[in-house]
Amino acid sequence: MRSRCMVGARYRTGMQAVLSGVPCEGKDVWNGRGGHGCGRTPRGGRDTQGGRDMEASGVSDGRGQPGVRLLVVRPHPDDESSATGGLLAYYHARGVQTGVVICTGGEEGEIHDPTLDPVVARPHLRAIRERELRQACALLGVAELRLLGYRDSGMPGTPANQHRDAFVQADPSEAAGRLVRIVRELRPRVIVTEPPGGGYAHPDHIRCYQVSLAAFHAAGDARAYPEAGPAWPVAKLYAIAQIDDGQWETLQPAFQAAGFDVGRRQRSRQRARGAGPETATVALDVRPYSEIQRQALLAHRTQIPPDSVWGRLPAALYRRAFATAYCIRLHPPAVPGEYEQELFDGLPV
Ligand SMILES: [Zn+2]
Repeated sequence: MRSRCMVGARYRTGMQAVLSGVPCEGKDVWNGRGGHGCGRTPRGGRDTQGGRDMEASGVSDGRGQPGVRLLVVRPHPDDESSATGGLLAYYHARGVQTGVVICTGGEEGEIHDPTLDPVVARPHLRAIRERELRQACALLGVAELRLLGYRDSGMPGTPANQHRDAFVQADPSEAAGRLVRIVRELRPRVIVTEPPGGGYAHPDHIRCYQVSLAAFHAAGDARAYPEAGPAWPVAKLYAIAQIDDGQWETLQPAFQAAGFDVGRRQRSRQRARGAGPETATVALDVRPYSEIQRQALLAHRTQIPPDSVWGRLPAALYRRAFATAYCIRLHPPAVPGEYEQELFDGLPV
């Protein structure tokens, strides 16, 4: 059963309008096309071809002295790369320690990797996707990766929703407690997560927002989850934002000239025009990191075939399509028209 989550993130950057049909799980939209990226290894990253464990990839699992300034909380393996990949690479390039929490194992995703037999691989998909996730995080320069440990809930209305280990079946308080423990361990100043409602009707995206919001508030409250470590107040909570900045429409002629009929596919979804860039609190120029983002996304081989649109789109066009990462500040609430240069505005260095 396909469990697609569309690049979920909707912090779209021009073409992210299109990416809204990309992965997360079974991105067959575009028959497996997706990506962001550049091919060069980010600072601190390593070649991760072939799959390695977390230690080998340079991504910490908690041993040593953990600590991050930015923590990105997403539902499925590949969400970290599809919608927040540019943002993570942006901050890594600036020497900011970043962390990623993935809530589920992505067990309901499709298997597009041509080197895998889907029947054989299916029972092992969680482990396969974890390896892909670690490769992607290494490419993005993520210092700390944590797994919340729940099972992928699948697309709305599918039997996977009812699995006893599904994220959507978890007790919300228990799930928030798991995240509080991670927040108090890693002590970020800023958390970025799903928008209210998930930005996409996948139950795990919706639940990810709910759990992140609860954990954001509870982490700084010493009375909440005292067993989860000393209280740590996080300064800001942001949501990735699906923004229609007009870039995608502007690129239509270029897409068509390059042989990609993005317009037809997009029009077929009959999407309404989304909120404009004036609604975003932060708009980061992530163009220099588009190829890193693409390589991270393509590390999720089970989800995104190398011959997908995301893998084949010319670099210059891809860079223009994924030019900006938009976020909306949820806490402290942004006032209408408020704009920040970046996520750490107003915070001590
Ligand atoms: Zn997802």
